[in-house]
Amino acid sequence: MTHVVIVGAYGSAGSAVAEELVDEPGIELTLVDDGDPGGGLCILDGCMPSKEVLSAAAHRFQARHDDRLVGDLPEVDLDAVVERKDDHTLDWAGHRRRGIEELAEHDDVEFIHDTARFVDDRTIAVGDREIEADYVVVATGSVVNVPDLPGIKDVDYLTSADVLDATELPDSGIVMGFGYVGMELVPYLDEAGGMELTVIEHDDRPVDEADPEFGDALLNIYEESFPIDVETNVYERELEQTDDGGVRLTSSVRTGPRRPTKPTSCSASPVVAPTSTGWASSRRPSNQASAGSRRRCRPATTTASSSSVTSTARNPSSTSPRSRA
Ligand SMILES: Cc1cc2nc3c(=O)[nH]c(=O)nc-3n(C[C@H](O)[C@H](O)[C@H](O)COP(=O)(O)OP(=O)(O)OC[C@H]3O[C@@H](n4cnc5c(N)ncnc54)[C@H](O)[C@@H]3O)c2cc1C
Repeated sequence: MTHVVIVGAYGSAGSAVAEELVDEPGIELTLVDDGDPGGGLCILDGCMPSKEVLSAAAHRFQARHDDRLVGDLPEVDLDAVVERKDDHTLDWAGHRRRGIEELAEHDDVEFIHDTARFVDDRTIAVGDREIEADYVVVATGSVVNVPDLPGIKDVDYLTSADVLDATELPDSGIVMGFGYVGMELVPYLDEAGGMELTVIEHDDRPVDEADPEFGDALLNIYEESFPIDVETNVYERELEQTDDGGVRLTSSVRTGPRRPTKPTSCSASPVVAPTSTGWASSRRPSNQASAGSRRRCRPATTTASSSSVTSTARNPSSTSPRSRA
């Protein structure tokens, strides 16, 4: 028998590998996951809940843009959005967990609900057991990579997971990162949360790994569809709390495409209302320490002074989103 241990069996990758291997002859499978409730990122805090909440924003967006629809623009009820998202998410996660439990009913398959760690190349410690394996599949996923930015510990910020759970949103926010997560959260925060948003992006355009035409087209669509300010080639430098409870982001502008960032002096912009910062930043593998490497952000109001940019955003101040025509 060949013994395969899959660490991260509840996740999309781990469960797919488990399903692939379960009927293979001569394979003994040990499935391990410590998720609580368990279901993997895609189901619990990623792909599926993000589409779920975004669908509410999409309805409002359509109501705003389709001139066959008349009458007052409806508001998005964030409590109802989060409640429905939670219902569906827990249902999907339960389905994933039952799938793993059913796999564990096969001969030569075991599921252990606990945290695994390597003892050596082929030995895994789980709880008080040590398991020898011929192969170990590490499918432990990722965690949010909160950047090691000066001042970040002193301000409130929201990760993408926090946004999906929020029943109150600030009036404005700085969204760091215009990758695919930021591109999903921005329409939601704008349309459903009524937030005034500024996006800060390190690259020339969103989704910079794709062909430039693709990112340019996306940027145009976003800027035409939403009242957002997207700052590209901008690097965050520092966050600070303002006297009126807001947050100020100081950043610098990259002086030319693909050239190193040139640090600049900064000037403060007034904070009109309380502030908060939204993070749609990168993720890092679960099995790696925080690198504080790539990160992105968005402000709500931005003032540029010479070559510096200082951005401010407002704090949570109301529970109901503002209406916007
Ligand atoms: C807001 C958002 C939207 C997204 N939208 C999309 C989308 O539309 N399409 C798309 O393809 N992707 C999307 N993604 C990305 C997608 O969610 C991830 O790529 C995917 O979920 C990763 O799956 P995984 O199996 O690698 O990891 P995970 O789903 O994170 O699974 C890892 C599992 O390992 C377990 N684990 C970790 N460490 C240990 C340990 N030491 N011992 C035991 N168990 C452990 C965890 O509990 C977890 O169950 C989105 C992500 C976010 C944040």
